[in-house]
Amino acid sequence: MPRVVESSTELRQKLLRAGQVGLVPTMGYLHEGHATLIRRARAKCDTVVVSVFVNPRQFGANEDLGRYPRDLDRDLRVAGEAGADLLFHPDVDTMYPPGYATTVSVGGVSGPPEGTSRPGHFDGVATVVLKLFNLVQPHRAYFGEKDWQQLAVVRRMVGDLNVPVEVVGVPTVREASGLALSSRNSYLTDEQRGRAVILSRALGAVQEAALSGELDTARLRQAGLDVLGQDPEVDLDYLTVVDGDMRERGRVENDPMTRVLVAARMFGVRLIDNLPLWPEGDPA
Ligand code: AMP
Repeated sequence: MPRVVESSTELRQKLLRAGQVGLVPTMGYLHEGHATLIRRARAKCDTVVVSVFVNPRQFGANEDLGRYPRDLDRDLRVAGEAGADLLFHPDVDTMYPPGYATTVSVGGVSGPPEGTSRPGHFDGVATVVLKLFNLVQPHRAYFGEKDWQQLAVVRRMVGDLNVPVEVVGVPTVREASGLALSSRNSYLTDEQRGRAVILSRALGAVQEAALSGELDTARLRQAGLDVLGQDPEVDLDYLTVVDGDMRERGRVENDPMTRVLVAARMFGVRLIDNLPLWPEGDPA
């Protein structure tokens, strides 16, 4: 079982002589996606720290902060089985004590699509991630491609602010059905989860169109929209094809950074997913 650490002083003390440190930042309710990040860290680092912190600053006023799932016993078990050494579980006052007044705001890649749908979200993410980097001082930090734009924001911040950490992106872990694993899937019944597979099917349709030679963004999008239109429960936020700088252009480039991103509300739950248009190594 990993050791639970709640204060920054205990954290620093536990990390003396820790060798190469790997950090996996999470909001808890750990699943196989998180476990995959932890195993990647375990394979490369001497000490693996998993942070579990439901960061209020990355939630909007009408979002699910209050009902976000929490289960520290589950987190300890999953993190332990995947090889974590320390579970850093600070409370809100430890991270944001009275008088706290600083925000990290990344320009450019923090905008559309997700940043416009969730104003302030990436300020909250960048702020907490930089604080975690300063607290843990990891050599490497592991992030899922599931949150593709978040990964771009973190990379931008690390580059712009010369943060001495290697950011490692890890491919999305999915159920056999194709549904991307997410702590928020716990809001859904089995039947609803079955219906939510439509998001990854839509992404697959866009990828398939690209692989068969379509480069026109509007037509690529349409291939995904045709799938999403099959279930009236899909309340679409966005379906967009972007380059590595999160820009949507009229035509796409055959490039590993070109991605199709989707966000939609289904059964009252906001779900996101993405896929590369040309999976690495596919020359089509
Ligand atoms: P969260 O707890 O949802 O904030 O996620 C913590 C980290 O785990 C983030 O870097 C996510 O991108 C990553 N993650 C979440 N779900 C998955 C998944 N299905 N596959 C890979 N990484 C994931």
